[in-house]
Amino acid sequence: MDRNRYKIDTILAHLSENGGIKDPFGSSHMPIYQTATFDLKKQGDNPYDYTRSGNPTRESLENLLSKVCSGVGAVLTHTGLGSIALLFESFLRVNDHILVDKDTYGGTFRLLKYYRDRMNITLHFVDFLDLEKVENKLKSNPISIVLIESPTNPGLKILDLQQVGLLTKKYKTIFAVDNSLATFVSQRPLELGADISLFSTTKYVSGHGAVIGGAIVSNNKNLLKEIKYTANAQGRSQNPMDVHTISLGIPTLPIRLKAHQDSALKLATWLENHPRVKRVVYPGLKSHPQYETAKKQMSYFNGVLTVDFESEELALRVVEETILFSEKCSFGTADSRIESPGKISHASFTSDELREIGINPETLRISVGLEDIDDLIDDLKGIIGE
Ligand SMILES: *Cc1c(COP(=O)(O)O)cnc(C)c1O
Repeated sequence: MDRNRYKIDTILAHLSENGGIKDPFGSSHMPIYQTATFDLKKQGDNPYDYTRSGNPTRESLENLLSKVCSGVGAVLTHTGLGSIALLFESFLRVNDHILVDKDTYGGTFRLLKYYRDRMNITLHFVDFLDLEKVENKLKSNPISIVLIESPTNPGLKILDLQQVGLLTKKYKTIFAVDNSLATFVSQRPLELGADISLFSTTKYVSGHGAVIGGAIVSNNKNLLKEIKYTANAQGRSQNPMDVHTISLGIPTLPIRLKAHQDSALKLATWLENHPRVKRVVYPGLKSHPQYETAKKQMSYFNGVLTVDFESEELALRVVEETILFSEKCSFGTADSRIESPGKISHASFTSDELREIGINPETLRISVGLEDIDDLIDDLKGIIGE
């Protein structure tokens, strides 16, 4: 099926016609090739020998993701963070410099410190909304990798991927985008100037909170070759059972994103007008400082928002008393979730580092699920009032 002719919803509904199922029997859903090895004498043209190196189940989903991300190939890893580690392991050398945004997923931040301490990597943090600062950093340091998220987690800043892409091209640096929050349905970094798009499949992509996984996709054959080599050398590939579980969520991803977004916008609008709320950050609100950039590069705003309540006490009470928003980390599931970022997902940040990216003690991150939106709003009304 032609990616140019059909919209992404149509492509994802037809996994088998899109290289998403590799099976000689015409299976209508991807079979699980649960095997460690393949018989070298029986395989004919079959290129598989050992599941760490290659497996039809994994390759099916890799083919599909590569196609819908506009890449030339993909590697599925056992976790999302595993994809980020694979990026670093593929391209970082001792004494290298990395440039990242100040607002970075907590696990990525911890991983960056890990490489800093073990490989003498210099970490440069900058606010990527300030492109002049980004350019100065690129000009005056031998940066080998630029890694950013958009939207950022948890600050929900929207970074202009096209503008950053122009700079990384100019300074010949590898440009990688963590697309976990937006997903390839909403935003395709490789079409906007990135060399590498990577993401956790744990969140929206699988969508049911049943599995952990990650993917890394590139549109550059040389980069991809290095990534594949490293994945095999380090044994980072995902097992077929988990790949299969992730594939179950893929056809419904567009319609889920739409539902998450519609509810999130209603909730964000209600909260924004509530007297006991100081601030709501949601890329789909006109009040979001980068609303125009978000509209330009994303087709869905998804279901994650951050809310500053009038006080830390009230924020804590909301987490304590809500019935429908469970206190669990992660996002992108059918059930709504709520968390205090400093306590769970960004526990590796100091309170000063959190403040700098707009996360205060009274800030909660909310992932709006697929419940009826009136039930969700009523639940919060019972705690903070009309
Ligand atoms: C969750 C997340 C990751 C890590 O993915 P895991 O599957 O949990 O390892 C990386 N980046 C972002 C932005 C995330 O939200």
